[in-house]
Amino acid sequence: MNLICTIPINFTPIMAKEKTDKGIETVEDKMSQNILVLGPCSAESRDQVLEVAKHVARWYPKAIFRAGIWKPRTRPNNFEGIGEIGLDWLSEVRQTTGLRIATEVANTKHVELCLNKGIDVLWLGARTTVNPFYVQEIAEALKGFEGTVMVKNPVVPDINLWLGAIERIEQVGISDVIAIHRGFHHYDSKPYRNLPQWEIPIELMSKREDIPIVCDISHISGNPSLFESLAQKAMDLEMAGLHIEVHSNPKNALSDAEQQITPSELDVLLSSIEKRNPFTDNIDFITKLEKLRSEIDDIDSNLLKNFHRRMLLVRNIGEIKKQNKVTILQVTRWKKIVSRYMDEGKALGLSKSFLEGLLNGLHDEGMRNQNDVMN
Ligand code: PEP
Ligand code: MN
Repeated sequence: MNLICTIPINFTPIMAKEKTDKGIETVEDKMSQNILVLGPCSAESRDQVLEVAKHVARWYPKAIFRAGIWKPRTRPNNFEGIGEIGLDWLSEVRQTTGLRIATEVANTKHVELCLNKGIDVLWLGARTTVNPFYVQEIAEALKGFEGTVMVKNPVVPDINLWLGAIERIEQVGISDVIAIHRGFHHYDSKPYRNLPQWEIPIELMSKREDIPIVCDISHISGNPSLFESLAQKAMDLEMAGLHIEVHSNPKNALSDAEQQITPSELDVLLSSIEKRNPFTDNIDFITKLEKLRSEIDDIDSNLLKNFHRRMLLVRNIGEIKKQNKVTILQVTRWKKIVSRYMDEGKALGLSKSFLEGLLNGLHDEGMRNQNDVMN
């Protein structure tokens, strides 16, 4: 299946007019086919907004310039956004730089104010997408909006909530929709702020090839030391672009201070990305790839045969347990299996999460088979 996202027509690349003497020209060239969403977490002052916007406009003129005006803070008594006046600063950004401007809307009042000010791009945050009532209300307030709507994934890893929010927006006649992958809440998400769970955006890509997915490396990582690897991974998964929070003085930012980078750090980051192609016609590569893939296919067939044999043995055990009136689960035996698997698997370099997933699958299928034989 072709998973390449189509980029909306209004993202026709505009190349940076000025090239730098420091070799930054590669930045714009490399990312010119991608959607970039750049700007501070929050609009804090007119000067702060305009300073970042000037840099973005100079080097990434087709980027979407973002800044939160109303901030959904998890706990109260933090900076909750500058409010309506920030819309004027964003409008000034558009007038002086030509950048498309974006902010978050979380209720119908926000939508109304943004539509009055002619904001180009609106986004639904992760705490909004999680609730179909909010999404529906916002969607209805958006009827007739001709700009772009970005839909962040919900905080919980539920593909249908994400898809459903996109569909609600589309149902009011908005066709220019971008999905933003910002990771999912998890109590044990280290080293990330939000677990990427790449399988979810990949599932969205395969279900909706027409929706571009942009990776929000700032909210996934919560920490710039992970930016480079996340950005590279997103590009290698053929995501449509990157969402990065940029602040001229991150340490003093009023929200998300730990995860914002300066404009010059942004340039270094974007120039470090290696752009790879989905295909190549290099014969040597194709021959090697086919050989390795065929070995993998053989191994997979053998794995399936062995899983089948394993289940036959499990069923045999079920039969003798039934004859001897023995219960299905013996915790001590299960504990032994788990510890042997983990030790042998780890020694082979297999990850804990992979081994756990495999064991859970085997255990569930084993229980199902024994239950089938015995009851
Ligand atoms: C944001 O983009 O600043 C934001 C609040 O994001 P999220 O909804 O992904 O938490
Ligand atoms: Mn933020």
